[in-house]
Amino acid sequence: MKYYSLNNKQQQVTFQEAVIQGLAPDKGLYFPEKITALPTSFFDKIEHLSNEEIAFHAIQQFIGEEIPEKELRQILSETLSFDFPLIQIEQNVYSLELFHGPTMAFKDVGARFMSRCLAYFNRHVEQKNTVLVATSGDTGGAVASGFLGVKGVEVVILYPSGKVSDIQERQLTTLGQNITALEVDGVFDDCQDMVKKAFLDADLNHKNLTSANSINIARWLPQMFYFFFAYKALKKYEKPLIASCPSGNFGNICAGIIAKKLGLPIHHFVAATNANDTVPRFLENGVYEAKPSIATISNAMDVGNPSNFVRIQEMYNNDLAVFEKDFSSYTYTDEETKIAMKNIYINSGYVAEPHGAIGYLGLKEELKKDKNTAIGFFLETAHPIKFLDVVEPVLNLKLEIPKQIESVLNKEKTSIKIKNYNELKAFLKK
Ligand SMILES: *Cc1c(COP(=O)(O)O)cnc(C)c1O
Repeated sequence: MKYYSLNNKQQQVTFQEAVIQGLAPDKGLYFPEKITALPTSFFDKIEHLSNEEIAFHAIQQFIGEEIPEKELRQILSETLSFDFPLIQIEQNVYSLELFHGPTMAFKDVGARFMSRCLAYFNRHVEQKNTVLVATSGDTGGAVASGFLGVKGVEVVILYPSGKVSDIQERQLTTLGQNITALEVDGVFDDCQDMVKKAFLDADLNHKNLTSANSINIARWLPQMFYFFFAYKALKKYEKPLIASCPSGNFGNICAGIIAKKLGLPIHHFVAATNANDTVPRFLENGVYEAKPSIATISNAMDVGNPSNFVRIQEMYNNDLAVFEKDFSSYTYTDEETKIAMKNIYINSGYVAEPHGAIGYLGLKEELKKDKNTAIGFFLETAHPIKFLDVVEPVLNLKLEIPKQIESVLNKEKTSIKIKNYNELKAFLKK
């Protein structure tokens, strides 16, 4: 499969090149040259297929011959080695729990898939790749865990000092080996800007830098699996299906739209955001105006200029009218998020963390419009323990610490503090 740069369709590369480069040399995001719908027979029998089998059929065309079937199946089996339960919260409202992986964040899937693709591509080569990633919270831990010990790959993670939770920070600063954490004096957007700058810096070419943010297709594409898994479970109700994604960089929801292009019957998408409302404002007035990010209690979504939105626009040929038929976007304050967490807990006994609660709110809003003829799910993107500083006081309860988290809690944090791009560059050049 060939991928083109969204800045220039002539600029085409293979899957391997796109994964290794992350971003195209002209700064464009890569996009698959074509998307072929899966046969209806696949959807007819989807409820009888294993998650691995579904994933194989969904992603195979995006890789083509570049990874042989046997190796691809092996990669998928390692990527999906945990559960994706769909929990009913209310009538027609379900939570798709994406947090049962090693770092209890949905980003485990993308990180594990990408690291194994890189390991496959590096199998005979001596050169090293450096994975450079900016995190607003959960990406860092998932990438650190997904890439730990992967041959030929150095991982450098930038995170905003004081703006990620204690557990998140430990997950990305305590592993050692091929993982280094850089603690940036700034906000997430500063981290992301520095990462983008490094990719375009000719002085760093020899480091073979690549990105493990959802701009990287190998991080981004496997996220479409979730939507297939939800459909597999909800198909039997034979109702229009709404998918609500708590959105930051819009990677998840954009992968969901790819799943729809593959023929998955998702009736409507909701991108639910916190106060970082660039996309809801765009849908309101047709003007895309990025803003500096605002800190919220759902900090993994504190993104003022969502990278993947251009991919979504590409899929809709920038046609706002068509886009709005399939897609809504709503914004919620911290206060509304906390009230939702409380209501979900009181009414259903379900503990949602702030990101999931925003997804819930978006879903409820859309269901209202559909006069409850539809059924829907929201993505619960992290385990509540990852946001215990919010969840415990809001719900007035004490969370039990899961095994995966316990193992990092008493490890020593190691990070390198940096203030600006020059310091990042100096570090990378070493
Ligand atoms: C990354 C993240 C999101 C946002 O996902 P995008 O694909 O960037 O929109 C939501 N919730 C959590 C917990 C996350 O870590």
